[in-house]
Amino acid sequence: CFIALEGGEGAGKSTQARLLADAMISRGTDVVLTREPGGTPGAEAIRELLLHPPGEGWKAEAEALLFAAARSDHVARLIRPALDAGKWVICDRFVDSSRAYQGGAGGIGDEAVKTLHKIGSGGLTPDITILLTVDPAAVTRRLKVRDGDRSDAIGGRSIAYHAAVAETFGRIAAENPDAFAIIDGSASPDEVHARILSVIEPLIER
Ligand code: C5P
Repeated sequence: CFIALEGGEGAGKSTQARLLADAMISRGTDVVLTREPGGTPGAEAIRELLLHPPGEGWKAEAEALLFAAARSDHVARLIRPALDAGKWVICDRFVDSSRAYQGGAGGIGDEAVKTLHKIGSGGLTPDITILLTVDPAAVTRRLKVRDGDRSDAIGGRSIAYHAAVAETFGRIAAENPDAFAIIDGSASPDEVHARILSVIEPLIER
């Protein structure tokens, strides 16, 4: 079973992915916890290029191709083999992040992202996606306090960009409500974890 955690910056995806993996492992489930961009040596190398772009930074098209290349390696070398071996895979971000960031907010469009995913990763989709929602303006305020020196942007991108990301995630979830659990990421980490477990536990027991 393939579980993805999605959402904007500061939604607590990484914390929740870890908490979920630990809870499942302690119940005896064989779990692989991974993330995007990254998860394999090749994809982690591409992550470095994405997060620290040489020169003027990536245009949305180049960025989408790099994300797709990283995902292709990640799916072929880690996710597919783990699923084929009967393991559970928990992935911190997957293709819906590309649909929301590069497709929706970046403006390259949904079809282009889907096509790249189909070519690179065979169109693999999660069995269930946990979408953690956050208000980009509230996250900006929080990150400003945490990091001191941030301007009105998260990771160099405007609040409008992050608002478009959040809006696109909402639209993607609405397309396929059975495959999504939408959970308010602004609740306490323990509360969010409990809500996620209440979605995943019935799947483990099936
Ligand atoms: O989730 P995480 O913080 O590891 O993501 C790293 C960075 O990559 C974030 O700044 C996120 O905005 C960005 N990202 C992106 N497009 C994606 C996935 C992540 O711009 N498809």
